[in-house]
Amino acid sequence: MIPVLDLRGRAPGVRELRATLPRAELDVEAAVATVRPICDDVAARGAEAVLDAAERFDGVRPSSLRVPADVVAAALQGLDPEVRAALEESIRRARIVHADQRRTETTTTVVPGGTVTERWVPVDRVGLYVPGGRAVYPSSVVMNVVPALLAEVGSLAVASPPQKDHGGWPHPTILAACALLGVDEVWAMGGAQAVAAFAHGLDGDEPLEPVNLVTGPGNIWVAAAKRLLKGLIGIDSEAGPTEIAILADASADPEHVAADLISQAEHDPLAAAVLVTDSPDLADAVQAAVVRRAGETKHAERVAESLTGRQSAVVLVDDVEVGLDVVNAYAAEHLEIHTVDAPTVAARVRNAGAVFVGTWSPVSLGDYCAGSNHVLPTGGCATHSSGLSVQSFLRGIHVVEYSEAALRDVGAHVVTLARAEDLPAHGDAVIARLPELR
Ligand code: NAD
Repeated sequence: MIPVLDLRGRAPGVRELRATLPRAELDVEAAVATVRPICDDVAARGAEAVLDAAERFDGVRPSSLRVPADVVAAALQGLDPEVRAALEESIRRARIVHADQRRTETTTTVVPGGTVTERWVPVDRVGLYVPGGRAVYPSSVVMNVVPALLAEVGSLAVASPPQKDHGGWPHPTILAACALLGVDEVWAMGGAQAVAAFAHGLDGDEPLEPVNLVTGPGNIWVAAAKRLLKGLIGIDSEAGPTEIAILADASADPEHVAADLISQAEHDPLAAAVLVTDSPDLADAVQAAVVRRAGETKHAERVAESLTGRQSAVVLVDDVEVGLDVVNAYAAEHLEIHTVDAPTVAARVRNAGAVFVGTWSPVSLGDYCAGSNHVLPTGGCATHSSGLSVQSFLRGIHVVEYSEAALRDVGAHVVTLARAEDLPAHGDAVIARLPELR
């Protein structure tokens, strides 16, 4: 049974909600302490440290960290045709959506002779993380690579954990997905050590050029390494252990709700599944369906750990209005809306990685084939971060170009503001050009 949090008869404010709503016991900040020595070791010892960590955490020491081109090509040749067709459809839809996200340069004429242009420039080199611990995620190859390609990133590398059942290479379906997308730089490394290798680069026989940006989902150790190394590298967001929140009223189908909660709980024992509802009858029906389904599902143990963990809950509220306050305060990675007039309710959501509207839009659709991106912020980061998109791989550069007349027009204000900030040398730079402002 999922733990129950009864908020009926109360309308808590945002601060109280944030303190009350369920979050996992092990948080990213605590995990940072664990991954720091791993990342420091990679910075100091390079490839040897990555290989040692692979042996320790993945149970295999790959014969090389860089996956040879013929291994990647062979994986595509061996790919099940049905999986290939599904991946191709996933890629096709992701391309359609992400192509619309491309930015165009804008030039604003502020005054005659004074322009500010915003240029969108792709990051030079990116490292794309594809998880592969408890499950393997060829879909994350699609979600990382498609926006990076559409942003026209110059150089990209993929990393995914070595698999002991596959000769120490990343899972063949992951390699095949890389080949389908034309990615030829693939590394057999996972977890914090992969993020650190991307950030610092590796010397030696198999040099890895450091990257400017690391994107992609992963477990808590991957999210912690991204937090630790942010600054040295850019990151997309902390896309850690999956979360699903569902806002539902009495009109919801309890079987759909239960199936969707379990679908995300199967990612990780730390995955969070939260139902927010004003209908105690629906809550009971969902609990019953969850118990039945969770017992029958393949990853029953992992699902049970996730659903009974501190991070999961059935939250009872007085009405959908309070329910909206709850889901906005929680800021889930994935939020489903199963209410009467779901589009209107969804339009009022302010904080979520992605919103899935109505009973025919389950999160699983978004995980693979909606066209949307599945690399999304977790742990409340949806209050300030976005999911992965073409934008994640671009930087906006302001290009300022003023003529002499345009500078003369505003120069006195610049000098005044420089003096007000007690930074007179700023003003002097203008006065050097326009001595009459002295
Ligand atoms: P993973 O590749 O993220 O993690 C595997 C790696 O974790 C291993 O290679 C190992 O190096 C490291 N590791 C394992 N135990 C460790 C320990 N005790 N200390 C330090 N490092 C350790 O694969 P996974 O475990 O299957 O996790 C995938 C995660 O990605 C899940 O949590 C899933 O919910 C999440 N996910 C998130 C999103 C998102 O957008 N937020 C999308 C898809 C998946």
